[in-house]
Amino acid sequence: MNAPHDTIVAPATAAGGAIAVVRMSGPAAFAICDGVFRGTARTGDTAGYKVLYGTVADGGRTLDDVLVTVFRAPHSYTGEDAVEISCHGSRYIVGELLALLIRRGARMATPGEFTSRAFLAGKLDLSQAEAVADLIASGSRAAHALATDQMRGGYSAELEALRSDLLRLTALLELELDFAEEEVEFADRTQLRSAMEEIGTKIDRLIGSFALGNAIKEGVAVAIVGRPNVGKSTLLNRLLNEDRALVSEIPGTTRDPVEATLNIDGILFRFIDTAGLRATDDTVERMGIERAYASIARAQIVLQVVDATDPAADPLDLRAGQRHIMIVNKIDRIGAAASLPAGAIPLSAREGKGTELLLESLRAAVDAAALDEGETIVSNSRHYEALRRARTALDAALAGLNVLPPDLLSEEIRQVTHHLGTITGAITDTDVLTQIFSKFCIGK
Ligand code: GDP
Repeated sequence: MNAPHDTIVAPATAAGGAIAVVRMSGPAAFAICDGVFRGTARTGDTAGYKVLYGTVADGGRTLDDVLVTVFRAPHSYTGEDAVEISCHGSRYIVGELLALLIRRGARMATPGEFTSRAFLAGKLDLSQAEAVADLIASGSRAAHALATDQMRGGYSAELEALRSDLLRLTALLELELDFAEEEVEFADRTQLRSAMEEIGTKIDRLIGSFALGNAIKEGVAVAIVGRPNVGKSTLLNRLLNEDRALVSEIPGTTRDPVEATLNIDGILFRFIDTAGLRATDDTVERMGIERAYASIARAQIVLQVVDATDPAADPLDLRAGQRHIMIVNKIDRIGAAASLPAGAIPLSAREGKGTELLLESLRAAVDAAALDEGETIVSNSRHYEALRRARTALDAALAGLNVLPPDLLSEEIRQVTHHLGTITGAITDTDVLTQIFSKFCIGK
């Protein structure tokens, strides 16, 4: 991490728009800007949150008409003096403007450096900073809701409450050390156990929410499985309204699992059309089938398709927590009186009948109640790992509760607070910070 004493600059918008924004932050932001900007006032003399109109000139040559938004420390994203220069969205203009500002003393920002400065200035905690990246990447209403909640700090507050509960317990234990000769017990072990168990339950809830959080962020994985020719590819095409998967009359043509995403009612689903599951001697096809099994294992929802004219379903080896939806396809080929397997969704992928019911069942298979109720949901794998480590440390502390002397017990509990603290950044490690911010885009 660079110490935030220099002034950084970067384009904040992607190339190709009508307007581009160049962002500059640091102690010399106003001085550097005023060196190239000729406008209604100097940025250095302007109050925060004001916009100035003018031109940017390189010596005698006018580069562009611009608007400059002024942010005064500490009321900016980074907490520093900052300007945002809106110019016309030409690559040439943006390039020239950046070169000009860099010649005047700014430095090109590294990825995520604006956000890392915001973190170092205490404007955001680490989980909030990470949520900024998630927000930029969010592709569905649910993913957006998760990132927004995390950015607003709901999550941080819950973690900090757990941490301060634990710190209170260690403080009591440490008090016992001061009175070691008297053998007093400030922290009643039974109460301590129930407090720790309660914290354990909360950590478990957060760990348990990751399945939903991750599914929302990455898309809920749905594997479409069934024998060759039952209409899996046709179904996927029908759902997507496009010819993404290969549809053919020859059994075994879907050799690669095809992935496609579909946003159903604000939640992103990732469909994997697996190769027809059947015994085969063809090596390439067999590889496809192996991959199919791997994607079934990873999927949250398994859509099993059978043919209405021969509705036999192969047994599937589902893991705990996987949802199973059975579809009887090609109902256009059987009479209305034909009996269907119980609980199955009758459908004609070719004619598009029954898809509404399927979309409803998919949406219902994702238990998003926690999201709707505004509960904290963990969607970041770094946080998930930290929570799991905290849980392991808590188990160790619980195991030592009645046997360890107070100093060692307090040390065990401190391990739990340590792991929780790495999530919000109360405990930071430079390598971790560098790694997190390097995943950001430049200008963020
Ligand atoms: P997959 O091997 O399971 O992916 O099956 P395909 O999607 O390639 O479909 C196999 C054949 O079944 C194709 O000729 C499709 O046109 C046909 N098919 C798929 N869905 C239906 C349906 O709902 N009704 C009828 N009659 N034929 C269908």
